[in-house]
Amino acid sequence: MNKKIDNRKVAIVGCGFVGSSAAFALMQSGLFSEIALVDVDRERAEGEALDISHGVPFVGHVEVYAADYDEIMDAAIVVITAGAAQKPGETRLDLVNKNIKIFQSILPEFKKRSYPGILLIVSNPVDILTLAALELSGLPEHRVIGSGTVLDTARLKMRLSDHLDVDSRSVHSFIIGEHGDSEIAAWSSTNISGIPLNDFCEMRGFFSHEESMKQIEDEVRNSGYEIIEKKHATYYGIAMSVVRICKAIVMNERSILSVSTKMNGEYGISDICLSMPVIVGEEGVGDHIPLPLSVEEHQLLLTSANALKEVARSAGL
Ligand code: NAD
Repeated sequence: MNKKIDNRKVAIVGCGFVGSSAAFALMQSGLFSEIALVDVDRERAEGEALDISHGVPFVGHVEVYAADYDEIMDAAIVVITAGAAQKPGETRLDLVNKNIKIFQSILPEFKKRSYPGILLIVSNPVDILTLAALELSGLPEHRVIGSGTVLDTARLKMRLSDHLDVDSRSVHSFIIGEHGDSEIAAWSSTNISGIPLNDFCEMRGFFSHEESMKQIEDEVRNSGYEIIEKKHATYYGIAMSVVRICKAIVMNERSILSVSTKMNGEYGISDICLSMPVIVGEEGVGDHIPLPLSVEEHQLLLTSANALKEVARSAGL
């Protein structure tokens, strides 16, 4: 761990629904003793810090406070959740130009101060903004991580857990590729505690594998849209995903998570950020785990990468 950073300190830039929910979840996680909140609207950050800190006596000591950029350069992790959110009917990719502009005002703050910690990008479209953050911050690739499909993978596990009546933690599966419309369920490697998915389904009396997989994958892919349609924002699931990724980093767990990272030829993909399972620990992103893919899954992954590349190029990245 870098000497200039404090492993018990996390900062969040952007204190809207997602940033404040992440701060609330982190406050309860016990992982940090300091949570610093930054927002272009300083009063918003102060209000959230005050509100969240009133929960501290129920948990244990954590300082939660509003801060500026100078005060967060020793944070082990800075979570970036600033940006416009998706409106009903809007895709994550529609957000790209709005949020790149916001990132152009935030990331240079880290570059000019040579920030030594890890940036965790959450704002959407997260894969494109992770690539933008890499360019704008000047940080090395292993220290710029997108939350990627950690949330989508949790949604898939939850959905399979309901379907199969088994604990979601016993479901081993990944959503890979873009966090968005071209994401893919890696069905061929999915298993329930070592039992191949289709065998487990048959134990439960389900035999229409193709039909069920298509329905579940569609539901997972569209669940963000469904929540936004119904309550105009999504924030609890992503807040828990942020806690999960932060825990892997500060506890140096070397967990295998589907975070979004820069691809350098893995699976035949380069020059774009997307999610594939990688080791996550105190240095940030480590090695890629070569997930076995069917020919069809690999083809869909390449299509997802190409869709992201097109958006990145049109945004000038
Ligand atoms: P929100 O509008 O509630 O909050 C955005 C916050 O960012 C506001 O408090 C705003 O003041 C702040 N902000 C704007 N410009 C800023 C700047 N230059 N510097 C600092 N702060 C700034 O939106 P939200 O619902 O919290 O969503 C935030 C982002 O997270 C969106 O891009 C959304 O699409 C994304 N999101 C990502 C995931 C995921 O899985 N990656 C899930 C949900 C939401």
